[in-house]
Amino acid sequence: MDSVMQQDIKTLKGVGDKTAQELNKLGIFTINDIIHFYPRDYEDWTNVQSIEEVYKSGKRGCIRVKIDSEVKRIFLSKGKTIFKVRGSDGQNNISIIFFNTVYMAISLTRIKNLLLFGTVSKNNFNEYQIYSPKISQNMGIFPIYSQTKNITSLKIKNSVKTALEKVQNSIEETLPSDILEKYNLCSLNFAIKNIHFPENKDKIEKAKRRLIFEEILIWQIGMSKIKNYVKQKTNIKIKKDFSDEFLFLLPFVLTKAQLRVINECTEDMLNTDGLAMSRLIQGDVGSGKTVVAAAVAYNAIKNGYQTAVMAPTEILSNQHYNTFNKIFQGMNINIGLLSGKLKGKKRKNLEDKIKNKEIDIVIGTHALISENLKFANLGLVITDEQHRFGVRQRMKLAEKGKNPHVLIMSATPIPRTLSMMIYGDLDISILDELPPGRKEVKTFCISPQKKERAFKFFKEIIKNGGQGYIVCPLIENSENEMFSTDDYKNTILNETFGGYTSEILHGRLSANEKEAIMKRFSCGEIQILVATTVIEVGVDVPNASIIIIENAERFGLSQLHQLRGRVGRGEKESYCVLISYSGTKDTKRRMQAMCSTNDGFFLAEEDLKIRGPGEIFGNKQHGIVGIKLAKALKDIKVIEDSKKAVREILSGNYLNQKSYQPIKEKIFSLINYAENHITI
Ligand code: ADP
Ligand code: MG
Repeated sequence: MDSVMQQDIKTLKGVGDKTAQELNKLGIFTINDIIHFYPRDYEDWTNVQSIEEVYKSGKRGCIRVKIDSEVKRIFLSKGKTIFKVRGSDGQNNISIIFFNTVYMAISLTRIKNLLLFGTVSKNNFNEYQIYSPKISQNMGIFPIYSQTKNITSLKIKNSVKTALEKVQNSIEETLPSDILEKYNLCSLNFAIKNIHFPENKDKIEKAKRRLIFEEILIWQIGMSKIKNYVKQKTNIKIKKDFSDEFLFLLPFVLTKAQLRVINECTEDMLNTDGLAMSRLIQGDVGSGKTVVAAAVAYNAIKNGYQTAVMAPTEILSNQHYNTFNKIFQGMNINIGLLSGKLKGKKRKNLEDKIKNKEIDIVIGTHALISENLKFANLGLVITDEQHRFGVRQRMKLAEKGKNPHVLIMSATPIPRTLSMMIYGDLDISILDELPPGRKEVKTFCISPQKKERAFKFFKEIIKNGGQGYIVCPLIENSENEMFSTDDYKNTILNETFGGYTSEILHGRLSANEKEAIMKRFSCGEIQILVATTVIEVGVDVPNASIIIIENAERFGLSQLHQLRGRVGRGEKESYCVLISYSGTKDTKRRMQAMCSTNDGFFLAEEDLKIRGPGEIFGNKQHGIVGIKLAKALKDIKVIEDSKKAVREILSGNYLNQKSYQPIKEKIFSLINYAENHITI
């Protein structure tokens, strides 16, 4: 059977070179691909309604009519013709109208008693009418596929049908039978058949649930494997809760959200189930994640363990070093910064201290954990992922401590259901409250005509001692008319911003160059920083109070929000100016969302509604990404079920059993794909 599944779609009857080409564009190459190309929606021809009911619903619906007239031809202007027949459902009459094609109208008069599917409207004389309805003699629920300009839903449907006939109800099961049973899931065979050609609505739901369960299961296990986010057994014992002592020493009062999250982490570490903490803290920029992390670290340290803090860049680990020093001032805690620049004797010295437990907290980049660094007794690892869910760096924690507790900080506010999908076997805490006094960033969206005014405003701010960012989507000029940092370097900075100090920052500079520029910006030496999205990753310059974003229409909402988070970090009133070069409905909706709220979680949900999880995770046309049916906002129950199963599978180490082979293969192909393609 496997070999049939891998056959080219061209081996299907009715699929020639041309159709195959179009199917290829939809990511369909093999029989396996086409049976996993699910309908976008269904037409329900089993629910026959009266003409009046369909009219009142305002939606497409199914009516049964008896034709009682001949075809009437009506000439309109410009050579157009319509063909009209009259029918009745026993209660009301209706005109059935087709444009330019007589064939459909004639076939109507031949069949006499048939089903029509479409929207019912009324004409000027208050008579019911239906334009170009679909016609059938059979009741049923019919699939609708996402068609393209060159291939219709009907053509896809026929190809799917032929493919299903070819595999003859013998699609091999991918999930082990104990899981199917425990979670009350139908077989893959049933699911595939009913997702395409369901007998009734219940069967569609059953099929969907089964397929979504598997999609999510594979994602969660895949991601857990990549990030090593699997809950590990641990001997590290945190016996006493020192949170109150820490809080007492702080110069400010924590928010309710901060207290709740600290409590959640402490519970994890105090718990007696023998599993290490594996928790993600999600919080918008400025929600105060660092203090929370510090509180958790304090608990580990006071219980006799060391903590490692890892950041994605040198700049950020420097920043964390300074912040932690400030927070722990006067608390008798030794902090070390293991910078990439630290060489020779100095480095050896620090490494020795770490080994001898003279250092309580070590801060560094992700390299910290993969290097040959020896800890005396590492009890907690905190990673600051900022917002990128980059999947490349695998953590090798188990070898370092004896399975330390793990805390991950992420500044990407993403909807809870979506993070459940991505992060799998990971508990999630959300910091959904900003510390008091934080000002919202005033956000405006402008058309290019108003750009000069925006620049003038920008200069006003700088003249008064402020600093600002200008973000471009590109580094170099290209044909697709987006602004690049080169445009600014070569002309705009001279023409418009002469006399101000500026620098260009982008991903092609070396880490050292980037860091040098950030340092100069940070200490106020540079007034204008023109950059690509490299600045997304949490640099903290409180004096910067304005950000202009060129081609804002090119960025997703989450990304715009992240960029906006670069300002509003100090006392000053802050501004974000979005310059949009597109007037599409979609762009307008996104820009309006940005201007109307500073709530990152809300924006993330909007983003998800507009783009859908499939697109957020990568190429939507590529089957391997695998999230086709799950809608993060809607399918929470099955996502939860699937999460439960993931936990059981991982903690029981079941993946190596024979019955798990098929999903294991799918998981590995996802991992391969993800490591090369996915960052969100
Ligand atoms: P995040 O990392 O979530 O973006 P930070 O942890 O960097 O946020 O905190 C932002 C700023 O807010 C820091 O200067 C921090 O000292 C301060 N801060 C954090 N929590 C509070 C609080 N409860 N009250 C007042 N200021 C706070
Ligand atoms: Mg931070």
